[in-house]
Amino acid sequence: MYADRINALPPYLFAAIDESKARMLAKGVDVIDLGIGDPDQPTPSHIVESMCQAVRDPSTHRYPSYTGMLEFRKAAARWCHETKDINIDPVNQTLTLIGSKEGVAHIPLAFIDPGDVVLCPDPAYPVYKIGTQFAGGEPFIMPLLEENGFLPDLDAIPADMLARAKLMFLNYPNNPTSATADRSFFEEVVEFAKENDLIVVHDNAYSEMVYEGYQAPSFLSVDGAMDVGIELFSLSKTYNMTGWRLGFAVGNEKLIKGLGKVKSNIDSGAFDAIQMAGITALTSSQQCVSDMNRIYEKRRDVLLKGLQGIGLDVKPPKATFYMWAPVPKGYDSMAFSQLLLEKAGIVATPGVGFGQYGEGYIRFALTQSVERINEAVARMEKLRL
Ligand SMILES: *Cc1c(COP(=O)(O)O)cnc(C)c1O
Repeated sequence: MYADRINALPPYLFAAIDESKARMLAKGVDVIDLGIGDPDQPTPSHIVESMCQAVRDPSTHRYPSYTGMLEFRKAAARWCHETKDINIDPVNQTLTLIGSKEGVAHIPLAFIDPGDVVLCPDPAYPVYKIGTQFAGGEPFIMPLLEENGFLPDLDAIPADMLARAKLMFLNYPNNPTSATADRSFFEEVVEFAKENDLIVVHDNAYSEMVYEGYQAPSFLSVDGAMDVGIELFSLSKTYNMTGWRLGFAVGNEKLIKGLGKVKSNIDSGAFDAIQMAGITALTSSQQCVSDMNRIYEKRRDVLLKGLQGIGLDVKPPKATFYMWAPVPKGYDSMAFSQLLLEKAGIVATPGVGFGQYGEGYIRFALTQSVERINEAVARMEKLRL
């Protein structure tokens, strides 16, 4: 019944966890969910208010423009200039997305022919690999190893793969490892992309979720990046807007145009009222962002101490709301997450769900209050690992 591309989808590894979670909830267990990467706090009220006004304006009720409202693209370009120090043309180098996931999924359709290779990090957000396969491309896995700071080793990519490779996905600050990349890594990537004729797609969904003064560099802020790449930004994690579906792509004009061509044949753009709320988010004071970061930082410190206390070797992440912890000896990631769930009522995501190189790790999302995280830590201490 299903198309080959659906039959070829990898098995859904979280099914066992979902089942156990449902069983625990049915038993009345007070489950603490540190599994999903979805902000628990509401969208800031000035953004919600802006949406309420916009939705009452009938001019927002019609089909949006394919490329996105010019006013939104201008706001996005100005935000990029102010926060990332990059100069973007809102008309030709900016495209509104229905969330950055939409951009990630559609990019391969614009640039990948059957048999083309796409360089995909592992562990990673699963859409890089699946979007590639939907387009008939062949993912080539770049392992993200702890000894390399969870950056891909570009020199380790075999020449025959490189010859067929057309595109590379990257994501820093990184989900799930919480690793960051500095500008010198991006400089290396630009040089590598030029040498090997590669398109670079940098997924910067966590660009603003940073701690202790760390600033996540934009890929496009590196010399020459505009020649080879595009960068995806998302309002989801930055402004607690995951449900709204809004993001944008910026970068190389031809690449933006290619993605736009796919989109204009598949979707009809993001709701104008949502884009108007997005303008408010991008152009208002960014105090709400630093306030959220302070909340996540407190949670991070509590969970860090707790995990270290039970003997897990975790380091404080500089960015993202994830903690990527090696699992204790004697467990694989699936067995350890099952143990946490069944013996402590804690949901965390087994690393193997992000790819084979995620095995041996577990991901905790800082999407519960300090009180709940404290409770989770207390329950983990009782496990005596
Ligand atoms: C959450 C996430 C996204 C999706 O963001 P949306 O803008 O909500 O589609 C994209 N990439 C990574 C790495 C993410 O973690």
